Amino acid sequence: MARKSAYNFPVIREAIGHADALYGFKSGFDRESLALGLKSGGFWPGNIDKGLTNHQSTVFLFDADSGRCRAAVGGNLLTALRTAAASAVSIKYLARPDARVLGMIGAGHQSTFQLKAALDQRPFEKVIGWNIEPAALERLASVAKERGLPFESVDLDQLGRQADVIITITSSFEPILKAAQVRPGTHLACMGTDTKGKQEVEAELVAAATVFTDEIAQSITIGEAQHAVGRGLLSADGIVEIGAVINRTDPGRRSDDEITLFDGTGVGLQDLAVASAVVDLAVARGIAIDVDL
Ligand code: NAD
Repeated sequence: MARKSAYNFPVIREAIGHADALYGFKSGFDRESLALGLKSGGFWPGNIDKGLTNHQSTVFLFDADSGRCRAAVGGNLLTALRTAAASAVSIKYLARPDARVLGMIGAGHQSTFQLKAALDQRPFEKVIGWNIEPAALERLASVAKERGLPFESVDLDQLGRQADVIITITSSFEPILKAAQVRPGTHLACMGTDTKGKQEVEAELVAAATVFTDEIAQSITIGEAQHAVGRGLLSADGIVEIGAVINRTDPGRRSDDEITLFDGTGVGLQDLAVASAVVDLAVARGIAIDVDL
């Protein structure tokens, strides 16, 4: 994306007027890997009562030379993996090298994937967590235990005081974490806000941070930065796409004291990249199912 050889097409997301569902698709094309396709799905709030995950998605890949369908891949697990990978990449490139305490806000479906991927990025010595319903933190505690790390349930003041890296992964529509609660030098990966109106951290905190994102167009419309930009506290020009840091055209973190914030909104190219890798693996292992359309 940062080299402009891969791009996302405009996102479609519609309330379909049935089953309270939000349905849409994210699509794009990568001219280098030739990944072409879309992820289609959305949010069905009644699914939980049917024993199904509320978020449902399927990725369709197409042959870039012929337009023929190459593969259909279940997207639920892949979404969790690619979202956790995006957050982990932000920690790899933006967190201070001496980060040792990881703070988690949110303990839903995505949170354990987030925690596992983050723990590989620094030699973390402790995990702390906050969730609106504290009982759900048990699932994060058990991941920490598997990795031999202590886990502590904390309030938001303690979380901000202790954590070097904070991941937010909730479906909140109100700011949870405030600017005054976060220490200089902290890296935040804000991963839950992917829709207009959602919000996990105070706009003042976004404004006080150096802001990075996967895609600026999404960050300012459906991402965490939408509120700071909407209130005139942050300009879109001040946001850096993380691809520039990875490709070394932007230095990333400028000092040990600065707060870095990654606004992970989730782009279609992530879905295509991870689905393509999985299809290649399945073909190589002989477990892909061949279907004549
Ligand atoms: P989930 O429903 O399993 O968990 C939701 C979490 O948010 C729980 O911890 C819940 O306690 C918490 N929460 C709900 N309302 C809250 C509130 N008002 N205040 C504080 N906490 C609240 O959802 P999930 O699958 O874990 O997804 C979490 C979020 O991540 C969702 O908003 C989802 O849309 C988003 N998401 C983003 C991406 C991306 O690419 N950025 C990808 C997948 C999911």
